[in-house]
Amino acid sequence: MSSRPQPEEMPCNELVELVTDYIEGRLPPRDVKRFEDHLEICDGCRTYLDQMRETIGALGHLPEKSITPEARDRLLEAFRTWKWRE
Ligand SMILES: [Zn+2]
Repeated sequence: MSSRPQPEEMPCNELVELVTDYIEGRLPPRDVKRFEDHLEICDGCRTYLDQMRETIGALGHLPEKSITPEARDRLLEAFRTWKWRE
């Protein structure tokens, strides 16, 4: 196994925060690159990504506990706007 030095290496905790954006295709290309580079070198995060994908696939949405307060606020905002428009 050769390991390439990564100037912008993504730490595990950042990957965990970005995983939902990655799955939903909302990550900027630059971060997608760093995300995937990290997956190549980190078994733990690959497993985490797989589990998240399975969970989302099974439930059709994210489990509440995995949503950050910011993401939850965005969702609530979206739901509110949506309701008012109905
Ligand atoms: Zn990792």
